[in-house]
Amino acid sequence: MNDIVSKQRAFFYTHKTKAIQFRLAQLNKVETLLKSNEDLLYQAIYEDFKKSKFDTYVTELALLYQDIKEAKRNVRKWSRTKRVGTNMLNFPARSYIIPEPLGVCLVIGAWNYPYQLTLAPVIAAIAAGNTVIIKPSEMAPKTSALMANLINENFDSAFLKVVEGGVSETTTLLKSKFDKIFFTGSPQVGKIIYQAAAKNLTPVTLELGGKSPAIITADSNLKMTVKRMVWAKFLNAGQTCIAPDYVLVHKSVEKKLLELLKLEIEKENFSIENGNYTQIINERNLNRISNMFSSENVFVGGKINTLNRTIEPTVLQNIRFSDDVMKEEIFGPVLPVISYQNIEEVIQYVNSNPTPLACYVFTNNNQVKKKILNEISFGGGAVNDAIMHISNSNLPFGGVGNSGIGSYHGEAGFKSFSHYKSILEKSNLMELSLKYYPHSKRKLSWVQRFIGF
Ligand code: NAD
Repeated sequence: MNDIVSKQRAFFYTHKTKAIQFRLAQLNKVETLLKSNEDLLYQAIYEDFKKSKFDTYVTELALLYQDIKEAKRNVRKWSRTKRVGTNMLNFPARSYIIPEPLGVCLVIGAWNYPYQLTLAPVIAAIAAGNTVIIKPSEMAPKTSALMANLINENFDSAFLKVVEGGVSETTTLLKSKFDKIFFTGSPQVGKIIYQAAAKNLTPVTLELGGKSPAIITADSNLKMTVKRMVWAKFLNAGQTCIAPDYVLVHKSVEKKLLELLKLEIEKENFSIENGNYTQIINERNLNRISNMFSSENVFVGGKINTLNRTIEPTVLQNIRFSDDVMKEEIFGPVLPVISYQNIEEVIQYVNSNPTPLACYVFTNNNQVKKKILNEISFGGGAVNDAIMHISNSNLPFGGVGNSGIGSYHGEAGFKSFSHYKSILEKSNLMELSLKYYPHSKRKLSWVQRFIGF
């Protein structure tokens, strides 16, 4: 591992990665590699957890193509030196900020959207002029092996290198000194990464998870809410970091909501054969999710197929905050519905738990919307929708508190792999004597006038 890092650091110091032409050529190469191997990409992800071609295109490849297109279009602008104003005290001078790449980066991916979550940060790192070591998740072994094959055969390892493996390989990797670590995964592992990074004062972006609430008020458009909610919750069989984890609904519309959820789930007819459902990634997760709820709370679904590793789209009713299903992120196709009487309870509950990655509010009440957006802290979210905020690259994507540190997508991604070097460039034409000894009352009064207070 140390050899690869040293090789990448040596390559970084040739300064080749800093040239815009180099960055554009590498972005084009990644794009061509993905486009010309789409069939293999579809096949590998299907083998890992039966994800369909449609869902893989829409939720993974399309987002990567969009990221590449945007990076290519903007890389010159994003990496341009920016002039800023200069204060009077420094007259005559100019001031500017130079975006510079951080160096050798480590990107650790998660398995649930294996291509998107592993390669989107890599695209941002390339656009910013870095070299990257990529560690996909071992929990999706076919996609991990395919990314390793494609990248390691087509790129110089001094620039891009995929290292496969699980805990022990990652632990070894983390012993090396990186200039940036970008991690996607659970808050528990996020803490391990942060501690390893701290030993070298390496900056991190931590894209973590949490329990993301969907809040439904009495006056929301229930039909539309349910349509969007059901898609967002059961996409990828609920294995989405920004899936609505649970619903908080106003008591007056709870019954109606449950009925509509049932109808919509039936209508969608989720199944692997229909291409709109996936397996649970492994047996461990199947057991973990199955043990979170009991049959007496099941309103819809609840059947577990251990052979096929699937759990039916499930809606739970009569849930209390103290139930197991409310204690940790579900990360599966199970939706607890809890009713509330007034919005203060909702705000108080969410704020008394770890800060979520996402929060969704379905409402037609402008005041309630504003109150929630103002009083609950969360990574990002949507009003009258769920998940779709991730598709707008003008919106930086990331968590806060327990759900993460930093953000990416679009220019935010470029920024997370860059340092902004501030320069004051002095003219040699003249030099004010104010700061120099001997000091005097007159000088002090001039300094005060220059500084402005
Ligand atoms: P995970 O934390 O178990 O694994 C993520 C990565 O960390 C993998 O590459 C894995 O090999 C590595 N890893 C695991 N244990 C490690 C250890 N002890 N030391 C070093 N590395 C280790 O997470 P997961 O099960 O792959 O994903 C589920 C979690 O990730 C959920 O909490 C979900 O919300 C979150 N997630 C967040 C985002 C986001 O964009 N914020 C996206 C997807 C998933």
